[in-house]
Amino acid sequence: MKKKVVVLPGDGIGQEIMDAAIQVLNKVSDTYNHNFTFEQYEIGGSSYDKYAEPLTDETVEACLQADAILLGAIGGEKWDSLPPHLRPEQGLLKIRKALNLFANIRPIKGFAPLLHASPLKESVINGSDIYIVRELTGGLYFGTPRERREDGNVAVDTLLYHREEIERIVEKGFESARIRNKHLTSVDKANVLESSRLWREIVEEKKEQYPDVKVDHMLVDSAAMKLITDPTSFDVIVTENLFGDILSDEGSVLTGSIGMLPSASLSETVGLYEPVHGSAPDIAGKGIANPLGMILSAAMMLRYSFDLNEEAERIEQAVEKSLEQGYHTADLNINNGVEVDTKKMTEVVISNL
Ligand code: NAD
Repeated sequence: MKKKVVVLPGDGIGQEIMDAAIQVLNKVSDTYNHNFTFEQYEIGGSSYDKYAEPLTDETVEACLQADAILLGAIGGEKWDSLPPHLRPEQGLLKIRKALNLFANIRPIKGFAPLLHASPLKESVINGSDIYIVRELTGGLYFGTPRERREDGNVAVDTLLYHREEIERIVEKGFESARIRNKHLTSVDKANVLESSRLWREIVEEKKEQYPDVKVDHMLVDSAAMKLITDPTSFDVIVTENLFGDILSDEGSVLTGSIGMLPSASLSETVGLYEPVHGSAPDIAGKGIANPLGMILSAAMMLRYSFDLNEEAERIEQAVEKSLEQGYHTADLNINNGVEVDTKKMTEVVISNL
């Protein structure tokens, strides 16, 4: 299979972890006779340093032409004093919008050797395997008006959703549940919000097309509690932008190892894959970053953009095996484990492929 991947390492540890993911993908491509090509562009602070803007039109165009996009991380203190429209995170918002990435997917699955670092009791978190599907381009973060009134003393934000925006994300939720454990939890605040009542109506309509999927509706406050008290009761969660932002961050700390978590942002045609963590400026350039979240994001790319399920699974199993053998980077702790740097961690994963 021949595929063109645009890589956007970004800032901080971005380049270090991206190099690791590319090495793993090259090994997969050799083993399975694929032909992956990688074209590198700038985003975030590194783009600002070169071009005085956090994302250039040339980079957007390259992403539009790509089969998939890998992103490292953006941001750092160096750019914190820039005006808001030039800050690194604007690059991320602009690329999501330009590519119409409306679905954000976060699988949250703990790795057995790391569960002791979870803030939850091992008996509670053990066996949890959650998949959060968050709407990414609508709702409160985009609705207008969004303004100050009465000399700045009144503030307005608008939570607005069109039927089609809800339908397409709810379908992603059902389709994801169908290929997993066939259980969809739709999270809303239908006891208070009109947009949530429309959301719930649409989930009820759509469920006729997915009779094999069991559907629950859950209020967002209950969902926040249940994620902590009973995480194994979830399979796929589908929810709107703001609720998804909060629940997915809550979910990401449950496994005790945020450096391990991958994510995908999907449009109807293209996907952007990135680890959940940030650019870790405190350790950038030291060669000790944990590359596993980025490597697992590359595995998601193979599965969701290229339909290469076997290859994706091989990478996930290689990561799991490496941890079981006790190898880990400095951000993780495994009892009687071996602490290694980014380069060695990547070599171990490749040798386990
Ligand atoms: P962070 O995730 O970058 O770092 C938090 C802590 O986790 C740090 O101690 C860091 O060293 C550690 N860490 C994170 N990823 C790691 C990895 N792969 N290996 C080893 N250790 C790792 O979050 P932060 O410190 O709040 O933010 C730093 C910068 O990243 C900020 O500019 C922030 O805006 C940005 N950020 C970017 C993204 C993104 O690109 N999607 C997400 C979150 C934060």
